[in-house]
Amino acid sequence: MTNARRSIGGRLRAAALLGALGSTVGGAAWAQADADLGRCLAALQPAAQAAGVSAATWREHTAGLQADPVVVARLDDQPEFRLPIWDYLAVLVDDERVDDGRARLGEHRETLAAVARRFGVDAETVVAVWGVESDYGREFGRFPLVRSLATLSCQGRRQAFFRGELFATLRIVQGGHVEPDLLVGSWAGAFGHTQFMPTTYERLAVDFDGDGRRDLVTTVPDALASTANFLQKAGWRTGEPWGFEVRLPAGVDLRGEGRRTKRPLSEWTARGLRRVDGAPLASGGLAPTTPAGLLAPAGRDGPVFLVLRNFDALYSYNAAESYGLAIAHLSDRLRGRGPFSTPWPTDDPGLSRAQRRELQTLLIARGHDIGEVDGRLGERSRAAIRAEQARLGQEPTGRGGQKILQALR
Ligand code: CA
Repeated sequence: MTNARRSIGGRLRAAALLGALGSTVGGAAWAQADADLGRCLAALQPAAQAAGVSAATWREHTAGLQADPVVVARLDDQPEFRLPIWDYLAVLVDDERVDDGRARLGEHRETLAAVARRFGVDAETVVAVWGVESDYGREFGRFPLVRSLATLSCQGRRQAFFRGELFATLRIVQGGHVEPDLLVGSWAGAFGHTQFMPTTYERLAVDFDGDGRRDLVTTVPDALASTANFLQKAGWRTGEPWGFEVRLPAGVDLRGEGRRTKRPLSEWTARGLRRVDGAPLASGGLAPTTPAGLLAPAGRDGPVFLVLRNFDALYSYNAAESYGLAIAHLSDRLRGRGPFSTPWPTDDPGLSRAQRRELQTLLIARGHDIGEVDGRLGERSRAAIRAEQARLGQEPTGRGGQKILQALR
C-alpha cells in the first residue's frame, strides 16, 4: 500500500477514547466529533485550493462528512508489526494464493510480457504484488477514501501526511480518472488492484491500455503496469533475484546485520554461507561483488536470507520487511519453487486461509457465535479461540494456529 503503513509507535488511541465516550454518553460524543471534523475541514479548504482542489470539488465531496473512528484506531494496529512472521506469511503465501497467481499469469500473459518489456520487471514479481495487495483484485478495502482521509487529516498522528493524500484524492476525482463511488480502499487510503496511495497514483500510475485514463480500479493492465513502473522507479534490476534463502554456519554473528548492511557476496561466501540448495552464493549470473544484506526475521533458528537490491524495491512498496518477504516468497512460489527449507522456530505454525476457515467452521460447530466463515480471525473468532484454548488447557492467547486447529478436529 505504499508508504502509508510506515511504522508509527503506540500512543493514546484517539478512536478508543472516542469509543469509550460513545458508550457512556451515546450520540452526543459522535455529534461532537462530526462538528469538530466540519470545523477542521473548513479550516483546511484554503490549503486544498492552493493544492489544486477547486472550491466546488471540495464542497461537493466534503460537505456533511462524518468522522470514521475505525480508521484512527487502525493507525495504531498494523498487522505486519503485530503478528508473528509465520502467521503473516502463512496467510499471504498460501496454496490458494499460489494457485490463483498461476492462473493470473496465464490469463494476462500478453499484458505481463508487454509490461516486462517496457519496465523490466518480470511477470511473477508483478503478479505477486497484485496477489498480496488485493488478492488479485478481490479485496480493494471497504473504506470510502474521502471520508477516511478527511478523518485522518483531522485526528490522530500524521495529519499532515494524510492531508496531502486527501488533496490528491480530490484531484484524482476532479480529473475524472476514477469514478468517486469506486474510490474505496484500505483504512489509510490505498486503493485499487495494487493499493496505491493517492499521491503514489499521481506520481506513478500508468495508462497502459491507452484509453486516456489511468485507472487502477477497473483496468487490470493499468494496474499491472503501474506496479512495474513503481518497482522500476524504486531501482529494480532486471533479471536479478530479490535474494535467496541461505544456510548460516554456527559462529556467524547476526549483530549489526540487516537489509541495509550490504556486503559483497564474496564476503558472505568467506564467512561460510551457502544457498540452501548447496549452490555458491555468486551463481545464476550474480557477480561475487553483488551487495547483499542478511535478513533473519525470526533469528538464527528460523529461515535466513541474503537480500539484494530488488528486495529493497519490494520493501519500498510498503516499508515492512515482512511484507517484502511475502511478495518475494510468493514470486518464487509462482516460479515453481517450494516453501522455505528451514522451518520457522515455533511448535505452533500459522494457518492458511483454508485452515482458518476450517477453524471457524469447527468453532461454530462447538456453538460459538463468530459470524460468517470468512477466513479472518477477528474479535469474535479470537474470543471463541480463547474459550476453546482455556477449555483444552492451552494458554488462552486467542491466536489461531495449528495446535488449536488440530485439537478441535
Ligand atoms: Ca487506461
